[in-house]
Amino acid sequence: MGFGDEVKDQLSFLGGFKLTFQHLTRPRVTTSYPDEKKAKFPRQHGRHVLNRYEDGMEKCIGCELCAGVCPADCIYVRGLDNPPDHPVSPGERYGYVYEINYLRCIHCDMCVEACPTEAITESKLFEFSFSNRSDAIYTKKELLVDDNGMPQKLPWEDWREGDDMMTSGWMRATSPSGSAAYEGEVQWSGELGYGTRAPEGGQSGHRNDELTGNKALRETLEPHLLPEDIPLAHRGMQGRVWRAKIGAEKNKKKMEAMRVRMKELRTSRKAAKAEGKS
Ligand code: SF4
Ligand code: SF4
Repeated sequence: MGFGDEVKDQLSFLGGFKLTFQHLTRPRVTTSYPDEKKAKFPRQHGRHVLNRYEDGMEKCIGCELCAGVCPADCIYVRGLDNPPDHPVSPGERYGYVYEINYLRCIHCDMCVEACPTEAITESKLFEFSFSNRSDAIYTKKELLVDDNGMPQKLPWEDWREGDDMMTSGWMRATSPSGSAAYEGEVQWSGELGYGTRAPEGGQSGHRNDELTGNKALRETLEPHLLPEDIPLAHRGMQGRVWRAKIGAEKNKKKMEAMRVRMKELRTSRKAAKAEGKS
């Protein structure tokens, strides 16, 4: 064995670092959960909400279709005739009792599909837990949206920005009978707090990514796509430069936020000192 071969043999362990070095320039996919959370899918199925019309009337008419279709048998609904002097819903009846057992729910959204009035939809929240069985049963008190149409944020739920957006985004993606003619057309009624939401696009390219939040999702998922599904401009060295630019932009925003926070802290400390002296 010559000297060259010996050196090569001695340094052969460096081959083991090949994968490590390759990943040094790739974007990090892990985050400091739960402090930092990744963008959720626009059609994520989370904790349900019971919607209301813009005049405050409840959308649920107590028809029990959601309970009938639920494969996990976790919805319990009882309808009651609307009191003529102060109706709760615009229909003949309203959902007098509405309960969902989250120990059973598999978030399949069949109830959302079955509902004729868009009363039951799902938010993106999945970070909630319970210390006993009865707390896992959400009643109308917890499920009904507030006066502004926003889901109630209960103390044991970890709501983050955007979790309450597009609570019925999943349904909005579908077009009646799968007809492409309706793609991109608003098919759903306006919602309290949100108004009429932009429909999601399908395969036709007729879409508004900014309004539906799809662009952010595609960017988030790109590192996990097959190479042939990644746009040419984002592959190879070009892609690395593109990702580095995005990373630099994110770091800039983080630094800016940190600077603002430090400034606030300094100001509050100065104010506290001044108060102590006086
Ligand atoms: S999401 Fe599925 S399992 Fe959960 S309540 Fe609705 S139908 Fe039942
Ligand atoms: S949520 Fe919808 S499907 Fe369920 S009882 Fe109310 S109106 Fe009927």
